[in-house]
Amino acid sequence: MGSVVIVGAGPAGAVLAYLLASRGIETTLVERQDDFAREFRGEVLLPGGLEPFHQMGLWDRLESVPQVKLTQGDAFVHGRLVASFSFEGEEFGPYAPRWMSQPGLLEMLVAEAEQHPSLRFLRGSAVTELVEENGRFVGVRVRSHGAEEEIRADLVVGADGRTSMVRRRAGFEVDEDPTPMDIVWCKVPMLPSMADPPRARFYAGHGHLLIAAPVYDGTVQLGWVIRKGSFGEIRQRGMPECLDAMAEHVDPELAAHLRRHREDSIAPFLLSTVSDRVREWVRPGVLVIGDAAHTMSPVGAQGLNLAIRDAVVAANHLVPVLSGDAAAGSVDAAARAVEAERSREIRVTQRAQRMAPFLVLRDGWLNRAFFGAVRRTLGRRPRRVRAGRAFLRAAMGVDEVKLRV
Ligand SMILES: Cc1cc2nc3c(=O)[nH]c(=O)nc-3n(C[C@H](O)[C@H](O)[C@H](O)COP(=O)(O)OP(=O)(O)OC[C@H]3O[C@@H](n4cnc5c(N)ncnc54)[C@H](O)[C@@H]3O)c2cc1C
Repeated sequence: MGSVVIVGAGPAGAVLAYLLASRGIETTLVERQDDFAREFRGEVLLPGGLEPFHQMGLWDRLESVPQVKLTQGDAFVHGRLVASFSFEGEEFGPYAPRWMSQPGLLEMLVAEAEQHPSLRFLRGSAVTELVEENGRFVGVRVRSHGAEEEIRADLVVGADGRTSMVRRRAGFEVDEDPTPMDIVWCKVPMLPSMADPPRARFYAGHGHLLIAAPVYDGTVQLGWVIRKGSFGEIRQRGMPECLDAMAEHVDPELAAHLRRHREDSIAPFLLSTVSDRVREWVRPGVLVIGDAAHTMSPVGAQGLNLAIRDAVVAANHLVPVLSGDAAAGSVDAAARAVEAERSREIRVTQRAQRMAPFLVLRDGWLNRAFFGAVRRTLGRRPRRVRAGRAFLRAAMGVDEVKLRV
């Protein structure tokens, strides 16, 4: 029987730890934070990230995590409602998009994994180094509450996110895309018309994109896409003025709400956008998955979902070899099979994400012509559209992912 050490208990690491430990594989999961609330993450679970919870037998546990099931998305161009997309069609089944508490989701996953004696979970413990012997990585060094420890394993899985030390220390080469945007995240008190039924709003036009959604703690989460590098100027002006600026790009109802709450926005936060991917996901004894392998731009809220899907595919390939003699060659071959199965979906998704900033962040004649055409095509009265198949195709993921172990 083989063993694995997983660096990072974000969605990728926590799902993989649950799947390996529940199949009897000796698994050590190392997370540098004591408390999952300390790392801010994407919180939108799409059909492609939701379906694996049914396959993992964790659906009822998922339902118990604080969340909001979105029933509708309202699209506004230049402040005017042009279309409402319903997420309630039968084609969604139970997989309509949800805004889900990440601390809640991760606590649930590690609690489930800890039911299995083959899991060792080290919280508040940082991996500081990889251990290398004869050209192969054979474990990690961990600093845990002042003590140092070396943990050996047949495979080190780097699931340590966008600033991955595993990626750096193992010498993975990275290709990066230009990302001309950042996102300002903040919350304001709930706007009743967005809460019942729960509906998200998307505002585009004049070089801006703003997302507003009712979330699980009874607030409205705002995400304002800005030009990269312009946050310094916004921060100098202060959050009240930032909310005034957001109010200029939304409909009159939300604008009045933002102006009313300009002094009491909660948890303003800048997400610096990155889009990159490692050229290969595997070094002898090391596999990277999730953001450590491919940091996703926030366009389309894909990062969390792709991380979960990576973990499912990793379990499919790793469980059979780690349940056997776990010979180094077979472990690396299984890790390469993960890369082979996942890299197409990542490439296709990142290619699609690259187009969005050029469409929404510029206010040139081409962009004005595009948004003018959208308004003309959709007519003067807002359309009610079933998000249905087109949305599902994008949100289910490019490739089929099924848990097989
Ligand atoms: C600030 C921020 C905002 C985001 N917003 C969005 C969004 O709006 N929409 C969207 O789709 N995606 C968003 N994302 C991306 C999304 O959250 C990620 O794609 C997703 O969380 C990736 O999961 P992961 O498990 O690969 O990595 P992560 O969720 O980043 O988890 C990595 C974990 O590894 C731990 N770790 C790191 N280094 C070490 C170490 N040396 N030792 C031990 N543990 C370590 C970290 O503490 C962390 O818990 C955001 C990401 C960030 C950082």
